[in-house]
Amino acid sequence: MKHRLFVISAASGAGKTTLKNLVIQGFPDICYSISATTRSPREGEIDGVHYFFKTKEEFKKMIAEEALVEWNEVHGNYYGTPKKFVEEKLADGKRVLFDLDVFGKVNFDKVYPEATGILILPPSIEELKKRLCERASDTEEVIQLRLANANKEMDFAHQFGKYEYTIINDDLEKAAQELREILKDPHLS
Ligand code: 5GP
Repeated sequence: MKHRLFVISAASGAGKTTLKNLVIQGFPDICYSISATTRSPREGEIDGVHYFFKTKEEFKKMIAEEALVEWNEVHGNYYGTPKKFVEEKLADGKRVLFDLDVFGKVNFDKVYPEATGILILPPSIEELKKRLCERASDTEEVIQLRLANANKEMDFAHQFGKYEYTIINDDLEKAAQELREILKDPHLS
């Protein structure tokens, strides 16, 4: 199990999803952990592919049944990592890449302390704001909430997070190459 788990964390708008999708195609032995969430699907998101979309009641049932490795409330919705999915992928010999908020990562480490943490940072808070506005998939209220949370999240990550790597995403291809190098590291396979 050692070194076969990778956790990426970032404030939304740091470019994490684009980066992850760009890189993961080159690694057939790595699969992406599909989280459960109570957030509504964005356009183009498919249940069971991007997330397992759940009602609050369904999500609470998963918590009660201890079906989640960790969970957290992020921007007003619940997000969590289903245990069964991770265990099955590891049993299949896969490496697994997780996308967790910085608080969820701390709880995740209690179960899988050997996981490799990768923190993705935007070049600046101004750039983050620009990217969130350009995405146009969220309401103004949600954008403001995400921005307000971004500073808190990054402070927390620097103080309490266990991140072996930090990638500043100012140039997508450069950041993608840095991520590829980490995933290619023979000590992490
Ligand atoms: P989004 O709504 O943009 O897809 O994700 C919002 C935030 O939720 C991101 O910071 C992402 O890292 C986090 N997130 C997604 N899945 C999980 C999960 O399973 N657990 C935790 N703790 N955070 C998650």
